[in-house]
Amino acid sequence: MTKTPLTSEQLTALAAGLNKVARNLWWTWSQEAQEIFQELSPRGWQNLYHNAVAILHEVSDYELRVRLQDPYFANRVSEVLRLFDAYMNDQHTWAHDQAQALRANPVAYFSAEFGFHETLPIAAGGLGMLAGDHTKSASDLGIGFVGISLFYREGYFQQAIDANNWQTEYFTLLNPKNLPVEPVLNEKGEPLVCRMDIGMNQVAFQAWRANVGRAVVYLLDANRPENEQHFRDLTQRVYGGDSTTRIMQEMLLGIGGVKLLRTLGVQPSVFHMNEGHAAFLTLELVREKMAAGKNLSEALSQTKAECLFTTHTPVEAGHDRFSPDLMDYAMHRFRTQIPAPFGEIMKLGRVNPQDQHEPFCMTVLALKLSRAANAVSELHGRVSRHMWHCLFPDKPVEQVPIGHITNGIHLLGWMKGTVRRLWQHKLTAPSADETPAGVGTPHEGTRPTDVRASEPYWATQVNSPEFWLRLADDDFISDEELWALRFKLRRELIEFARRRLLIQGQRLAHGDFIAFDQLLNPDALTIGFARRFATYKRAPLIFQQLENIVRLACDKDRPVQFIFAGKAHPRDDDGKRFIQHIIHLSKYSDLQGHLVFIENYDVHVARQMVSGCDVWLNTPRRPLEASGTSGMKAGCQGCLNLSILDGWWREGYDGTNGFAIGEDSHADSVEQQDRVDSANLYKVLTEEVIPLFYQRDAQGIPRQWIQRIRRAMVTLVPQFTTARMVREYTEKYYLPK
Ligand SMILES: *Cc1c(COP(=O)(O)O)cnc(C)c1O
Repeated sequence: MTKTPLTSEQLTALAAGLNKVARNLWWTWSQEAQEIFQELSPRGWQNLYHNAVAILHEVSDYELRVRLQDPYFANRVSEVLRLFDAYMNDQHTWAHDQAQALRANPVAYFSAEFGFHETLPIAAGGLGMLAGDHTKSASDLGIGFVGISLFYREGYFQQAIDANNWQTEYFTLLNPKNLPVEPVLNEKGEPLVCRMDIGMNQVAFQAWRANVGRAVVYLLDANRPENEQHFRDLTQRVYGGDSTTRIMQEMLLGIGGVKLLRTLGVQPSVFHMNEGHAAFLTLELVREKMAAGKNLSEALSQTKAECLFTTHTPVEAGHDRFSPDLMDYAMHRFRTQIPAPFGEIMKLGRVNPQDQHEPFCMTVLALKLSRAANAVSELHGRVSRHMWHCLFPDKPVEQVPIGHITNGIHLLGWMKGTVRRLWQHKLTAPSADETPAGVGTPHEGTRPTDVRASEPYWATQVNSPEFWLRLADDDFISDEELWALRFKLRRELIEFARRRLLIQGQRLAHGDFIAFDQLLNPDALTIGFARRFATYKRAPLIFQQLENIVRLACDKDRPVQFIFAGKAHPRDDDGKRFIQHIIHLSKYSDLQGHLVFIENYDVHVARQMVSGCDVWLNTPRRPLEASGTSGMKAGCQGCLNLSILDGWWREGYDGTNGFAIGEDSHADSVEQQDRVDSANLYKVLTEEVIPLFYQRDAQGIPRQWIQRIRRAMVTLVPQFTTARMVREYTEKYYLPK
């Protein structure tokens, strides 16, 4: 520790370093970095919603320099800067050996939404979260990676619930100055402006750069003074407006994205379309090739050789379809730049190319113009091959060229601080300070075993199966410690929920504000459900047996309680009715106090819930889930899954590591499915979940429950990571064959 005061140069360097870290989303998965910003302004951290950039505006430069004169604080800051530099300059990444080809010619990954952190709310749901986690892992692995999306200046909507328990939406303007983004500038230091044709107009757009560790994501922004207002508003809201807005947003994303990359001199080796929204990028690639003298069929086959496509849902409404008139209108000028009859382009989006009335489908375009396509779980692969068999009528259905790579999550980004600190402590405690035997892969290198390197040491191991294998061992961590962790996490969630409900102004049926401590029981089995309120996810399914559920909730000896959260799409009234129903039950039924709905679901609420709940409930109407990822976030914190065998859970569940609702099959009719699933849910809840949770031994420990937690950590956590997933994408699809 330094004894003499820091010099002015040292202070300047530390302050500059912190400013740099705040503008790289790396800090969102560095516990140490977050603690520094939090310590600078603890209240600000809460009120500014964990925004590192805003904290550095809140704390003046002068204050920062004064605070850095505290040697203990200064040492921690310089340690964070050291970790950041080590991360950014690591020459021994996985890609260094395994994916050299992608360094000079990166993967260009196009997605209409990205979810990184609660301070940058430009994701609507799981698709965006997956894109964010994909980017973080691409950075960790050292893969050349550039993301493309839109800068929605009002982001995704904020949810409020009105007096009729009806979801209402409101929007707040994001201020780029307070966000971890920086403008992309030209040589003169002015915003770099690109132009493209949309409808009958030329539309100008600029871009914001988000640094995600070593990866970069560019967010396109049409809010330029030279544009007409309706074009400026193309980048107002995530999936905002009508189908005209939608097609124009997708033109900006796909066509504009390619134009921006070219302007920046980025030459991707592969264009990865995350869902059909981005598929217009193929038309820009075709246009480029024809401008360079290729004919249409050459341009198509060369474009196809550069593109990959991931489909994300079997739900019909999830596949954008635009009428021929709308295509004509939106592409009025762009189409003239492709020296081929527009009818030929329209065929690329049609199942039956001859049918002039068939709408133009983005998924069809993406499938026709990519060298490989994949679904996001094994079952989803099967369903997608059936769904798109019509495009490959000559092939047997098993040979429809859609494979699968099961989704994952970025572990460090999702593990709560409480959990991370425990592992860190465990791996640096005096009894365990040796380099853990068998942990590590050759690519992750050998690390010095001094204490300063310990955090990055364990953090680099967190994706390896060997790391999680230690959880099987009660010498590494005892049942008592795991149980203590679970109580700590549950309490943190309940205190968070109570504070949120207080802010929400939750009232009881008779109009009084609810008393803080009447809500939720810190000792009770806590079941969580939070995700988009798309109707196929069937949030209220568990309440089909209301009387039975009330009985379980009110059981004095073995109480059960429920925490719900989630947003319905602004135009989805059925989803809003689900929310209304659940909130109604929480206020007016006998579930009062045992069921709460937390408003305004987002990444932060998600992190609290997947860590604090004992059980993560998922009741999609099989096989519509595709993959699902929220249950993966639960696993690494000791929260057990209770789910329909759909998507990832069908692959993860092995009978010992959580709970399954029903069988690996589903009924034909929707009504029958709902009935059977709700009966099975009640059965497993009463026969397995509740007995196991409350089966305590003489020491008060539910040994078998904890055994399931251990099994979940050993068998699920290392398998369902984006570290594994991005490696699979790289080996199977990204690298040239
Ligand atoms: C993980 C996550 C999702 C996806 O949840 P699923 O249950 O997989 O649909 C959606 N929204 C947020 C904020 C998330 O963190």
